[in-house]
Amino acid sequence: MEREARLHELTTALAQRGARMTPQRMAILEALLEADHPTVEQIHRRVAHAFPMTSLVTVYRTLAMLVEMGVVLQVDAPEPVAHYDGFRPQPHPHLTCAVCGRVADAPNLDAAVLADLAQRAAGWRLSPEVCVMGVCPACQATAAQTPPTSNGD
Ligand SMILES: [Zn+2]
Ligand SMILES: [Zn+2]
Repeated sequence: MEREARLHELTTALAQRGARMTPQRMAILEALLEADHPTVEQIHRRVAHAFPMTSLVTVYRTLAMLVEMGVVLQVDAPEPVAHYDGFRPQPHPHLTCAVCGRVADAPNLDAAVLADLAQRAAGWRLSPEVCVMGVCPACQATAAQTPPTSNGD
């Protein structure tokens, strides 16, 4: 199972760094891998169910350590809060929902597409971590269910 394998990789990385593997820290790693590109707040909310004393700072520090070690990716998305990818540490393209703010993996861009884009964007060096804005399927479904609001006349 991929999640189990990733959990093992992340715990090994922390152990190599000399970080103590507390049950709380284990819960942070599990929460990171349970959600799709979660934020610090989302991870904290999950961990706080089992460990109510966990602070946001503890979650943030653990994530920052994993990002610094290169085993977790901090997503470069046009979002006020950071999202984390515990599965794919290499920079890769993402989709961001303009309505709910969720972040998802996008298919990798063809190297030729990126090269063409770079050539036409004269002088720019482009990152493979492209982020495309859109509206996620869940938000589209919600919008379709919501009856149009009349403005009262
Ligand atoms: Zn959405
Ligand atoms: Zn990702």
